[in-house]
Amino acid sequence: MTTAEPPLEAEEESAVETARRQLERAATHLDVDEGIVERLRHPRDVYRVTIPLERDDGSREMFTGYRAHHDSVRGPYKGGLRYHPGVSEDECVGLSMWMTWKCAVMDLPFGGAKGGVVVDPKDLSDEETERLTRRFAEELRPVIGPMKDIPAPDMGTGPQTMAWFMDAYSMQEGETEPGVVTGKPPVIGGSYGREKAPGRSVGIVTREAINYYDWDPAETTVAVQGFGSVGANAARYLDDIGATIVAVSDVEGAIYDPDGLDTTDVEDHDETPGMVSGYDAPRSLTNDELLELDVDVLIPAAVGNVLTGENAREVEADLIVEGANGPTTSTADRIFEERGIPVLPDILANAGGVTVSYFEWLQDINRRAWPLERVHEELETEMLQAWDAVREEYDARDVTWRDATYIVALSRIAAAHEARGLWP
Ligand code: GLU
Repeated sequence: MTTAEPPLEAEEESAVETARRQLERAATHLDVDEGIVERLRHPRDVYRVTIPLERDDGSREMFTGYRAHHDSVRGPYKGGLRYHPGVSEDECVGLSMWMTWKCAVMDLPFGGAKGGVVVDPKDLSDEETERLTRRFAEELRPVIGPMKDIPAPDMGTGPQTMAWFMDAYSMQEGETEPGVVTGKPPVIGGSYGREKAPGRSVGIVTREAINYYDWDPAETTVAVQGFGSVGANAARYLDDIGATIVAVSDVEGAIYDPDGLDTTDVEDHDETPGMVSGYDAPRSLTNDELLELDVDVLIPAAVGNVLTGENAREVEADLIVEGANGPTTSTADRIFEERGIPVLPDILANAGGVTVSYFEWLQDINRRAWPLERVHEELETEMLQAWDAVREEYDARDVTWRDATYIVALSRIAAAHEARGLWP
C-alpha cells in the first residue's frame, strides 16, 4: 500500500512517515527505478547506544542515544545530533532522510544521517553535558569519522558540544581530527559563519521568493515562529534587506508590532532564554495566534509538526518558508496546495547550515581557514545555484515547491545509484 496520500483527519505524524510520503510523491514525477525508491524508504543502519552518565551527585543514570545512517551514495553521512526529550529512532530516521535530500539539493558530496540523545539539556549541568557528550562520542566512534559520518549541531547542541565531541574522538584516535564534526568553535577548526548559516539561508531563500513573486521587500511583512538561532538570524537578515518583521516568538509566547520589531534589540532565545516573551512590544500573542497572522511571509523556525491539519486552514500568510526541519505535516501540505499557499521547504531553505558545514570540512581537510567574507560569498553562490535548479523544475512542471525541490534531490541521488549499481 502506498503511503503517499496523507490521512484527511488531523494527525500525529512521525518524521519518518512525513519523509516517506514526500519521497513517494516526488518519485511519481520521475522515471526512477522502483528498487531505488524502495531502498531510499529505509535507512542503511540505525545505531542505538546506552550512555551511562555519572550525575554531579555521584549517582548513575542511563540515557539512550541514536545515530541513523540513511544513504551515502554521494559521499560520507552528514547530519546533526540533537539533545531533546522527544528524540526517537523514527525521528532520527526521518531526519536522516531529509539530510540525504538536503545535501543532494545543495549538490554537496554527502549523504544523510541524524542522531541524538533522549534528554532535556536543561536538566543537565555543563559538566554533566560534557560527560554525556564525551561518552556518546566514544559509543559512536566505530561508525563515525571524517570520511565516514560527520555529525554537527542540531536542537539542544552547539559549538561547545561539538568541541567536546571532537576532543573525545581525537583523544581515542590518537590524533587531532577536526573534520570528524562540523559546527565547532573557529579556534579549533570551526568555520566562521557556521552558526548563523541556517538562518542566513532561510533569509536568502525568502529574498529570492519575494523577488520571484515580484513583491517589494519594503512592503513585505514577516512573522517568525521560534526566535532561536535559525529564526533570529533569518529575521535579522530580512530586516536588513528592508522587510518588516511584525512578530516573533519563543516557547512562552509571541510579540507583535504591526510597524515592525527591532530584531537586533530583541535578544534571541539562545542569547537570553525567555527574553522574547518578556520583551516590551505593543501586543503579545500566543504561538498559535502567530501562525495565523495575516502576513506576507510565515517562517516556522522552532520545532517539527507545527503546521497540521488542525490549523492549516487558519493560516493567512501568502508564503511559508520552512526554517525548522519538518514543520509542516503531509495533511497541512495538501491543504496549503489546495489553498494555493506556496511552501518553500526546509531541505532548501535551511540548507545553509550543512552547506557551511561542508565549507568547514573542506577547511579542516586543507588545514586552512576561510575569512567570513568568503563563507558569505560562497554560501550565496551555492544557495542561488540550488534555488535556480529548484525554480527551473517549478516553472517547468505543475508541482509544488516541495515537489520541485525533491525532484532535484531525487534525480541526483537516483543517478548516483544507477551509476554505482548494486554490490555485489
Ligand atoms: N543540523 C543541521 C541540519 O538539520 C545541520 C547538519 C550539518 O551541518 O551537518 O541541517
